[in-house]
This record gives sequence, C-alpha cells and structure tokens, in this order.
Amino acid sequence: MAEGKTFFVDTTKCTACRGCQVACKQWNQRAGEKTYSQGSHQNPPDLSFNTWKVVRFSEVPGEKVKWYFFPDQCRHCVSPPCKEVAEGKAKGAIIQDEKTGAVIFNPKVKIKVEDFKEIREACPYNIPRISGAGIIGKCTMCIDRIKEGLLPACVKACPTGTMNFGDRKEILEKANKRLAEVKTTYKDAMLANPDDVRVIFLLVDDPKKYHKYAVAENMIGITRKMAFKRILRPLRNLQIMG
Ligand code: SF4
Ligand code: SF4
Repeated sequence: MAEGKTFFVDTTKCTACRGCQVACKQWNQRAGEKTYSQGSHQNPPDLSFNTWKVVRFSEVPGEKVKWYFFPDQCRHCVSPPCKEVAEGKAKGAIIQDEKTGAVIFNPKVKIKVEDFKEIREACPYNIPRISGAGIIGKCTMCIDRIKEGLLPACVKACPTGTMNFGDRKEILEKANKRLAEVKTTYKDAMLANPDDVRVIFLLVDDPKKYHKYAVAENMIGITRKMAFKRILRPLRNLQIMG
C-alpha cells in the first residue's frame, strides 16, 4: 500500500522549540520523564515507553559551530520490519491501519523481553520501546485524531511549518518541491528514504550530523529480506506438515 497518509518534516524550518514533543505527550497522555540538565538542549535524552517524539539536538564543531535539529519519531514504514518480526513473536502486537498506513502497537498484546529485542533490532530507525509490563510504546500517527479529520498533535502544534501531514501523493509533491528549492543553497540536501517511509525528513547536510539513525542506509536490503522471509514462511510450514 503506497497511498494513505504521510508526514513531511522540513528540518530547515525547525527551531527546536519542542512544541511538537509537548503536544505529543499531552494528546497521548504520556507520563512526564524525570530529567536533569545534561549539557544539551535535548531533553529528555531519548525516546522511551512514555516519550514517542523527541527533538534531537546536535552541536557540531567546525570552522563555525553548527546546530542540527531533528524531531525524531516512528517513520511509519510502508513495509514495517517491526511488524514483520512481531508477527512471528506475538501476533497482532503491531498492526498497520489499511486506510492511513499508520503502524500501531496493540496495548493488549504483551511481548517477552527477548522477543522485543528482535523487534527493536529490526527497526532501522531504532524507534520502539517497551514498558516493564511488556507493552510497546511508540508514535501512533495520532490515528484517533486523523479518524476525526484532525491533524496529528505534533503537526497541529508546530508553529514554523516544519511538521506537515496529508495525503501521500500531495505530501511527496510538496517534499520534492521544497527539496528543489533548498538544493539551490544546499547542494547535499536530500529526502530521507522517501519511498520507504511515511515520515519524510528533509536534510541539508550529512544525515549522521543530525542523528545516527536519521537515514536507514540499508532499508531496501531490509525490506527485501523481509519479503524473502514472507515467501519462505509458508514453504517452511508446508515442509513441517509434510
Ligand atoms: S520506524 Fe521502526 S517502529 Fe516505526 S514502523 Fe518503521 S520499523 Fe516500525
Ligand atoms: S514544533 Fe516544529 S519547530 Fe518546534 S521543535 Fe517541533 S518540529 Fe521543530
């Protein structure tokens, strides 16, 4: 399914105000984290079972110090490797909404710690987290809001136009148009894995400067491996039955 909904995250407009991060917490009623200053604007320091969106902040030294802001969240992969692995471990723990393409965890399905390890390792963006009770926590695309015709909370709260959301075709057009504009100033500008994800980031420099997992370098390899496993699974079942 390549239609549905998609986000476009134009990092050239992000001021790291963290409005999106707060709106996500508020709408989804996630508990706050006990944090302390760690010498960085980024706070809390990482995603967690209760923090589904975190604005990453990197300060990169050079001739001139540069700041890179990256509002990190689940990319709602078109063919989600996390779901593929979860199917073999705890069926129904991760589902994909047919209409929007949103990849959603099911809080009623508990996952063993060792199984979750494999699910997290399958995610090329290092996104899913788990509670002590074995429940997955990650962005839901605000599916409850979308079904009521509302924007995801992070998009609604963003005051700069960084966070955009809509029908995939229109969003891809918007992203490509903006990329062409930005390339006149930043020749290395790129869209991160636009064919594979529903949260498309516009970056203007080396992705690693933003975040270790900003781009999935081997996404094509991962989705091919998953497709291969999908073909092999019924064959293996036939062998067992035979
Ligand atoms: S980004 Fe990770 S958690 Fe989100 S859909 Fe893709 S594989 Fe799953
Ligand atoms: S609300 Fe918008 S500008 Fe503020 S941190 Fe989030 S994406 Fe950046």
